[in-house]
Amino acid sequence: MRLILLGPPGAGKGTQAQRLVARYDIVQLSTGDMLRAAVAAGTPVGKRAQEIMARGDLVPDDVMVEIIADRLGQPDVANGFILDGFPRTVAQAEALDELLEKLGLNLDAVVEMAVDEEELIARIVNRAKETGGARADDNEATARRRFAVYTEQTAPVSGYYEGKGMLSTVDGMGTMDEVAAAIEGALTEATAA
Ligand code: AMP
Repeated sequence: MRLILLGPPGAGKGTQAQRLVARYDIVQLSTGDMLRAAVAAGTPVGKRAQEIMARGDLVPDDVMVEIIADRLGQPDVANGFILDGFPRTVAQAEALDELLEKLGLNLDAVVEMAVDEEELIARIVNRAKETGGARADDNEATARRRFAVYTEQTAPVSGYYEGKGMLSTVDGMGTMDEVAAAIEGALTEATAA
């Protein structure tokens, strides 16, 4: 199973991705996690990304494509993967298509979690409180910035996959179990098609 999970910040992509990892025995490729690890390790990419992430802006496409190209070349993706947080721009989606073609792989599904902006901002602010502000980008101003960036730069990615007839949209506002069931249904449909 190779799939992309799309949805705005705070939609619970990470949580749903973890469930899918267990369900399908695949790996979760979270570019946000990879960048946070790079920041923590103080690598050149991490140094470049740190301030951009703190503002809630996007790390440049060329940096992201290189990170994901490197990751997709590793042996543990052989049984499949779930992309969480990538692609975030149409340029990244196009680069991913090229990359997958080179690797001789195709995507099984692109699932988008549809959500309500105000409730999402509240969730993000809550998460910041619960984690004691462990994520520098989890405050309200940054949350709003991240949402605006999503609307401007990432929402068109849904259109990109819709145009290819690959997009499944699920209601992302239910409980974790309800959303998981909706995703499962979308995957069953997409893989049967
Ligand atoms: P996330 O954990 O997916 O919400 O990502 C946290 C932050 O990392 C984002 O707000 C961006 O600054 C950066 N980031 C993660 N993935 C990407 C991506 N595919 N392209 C650009 N920036 C990214």
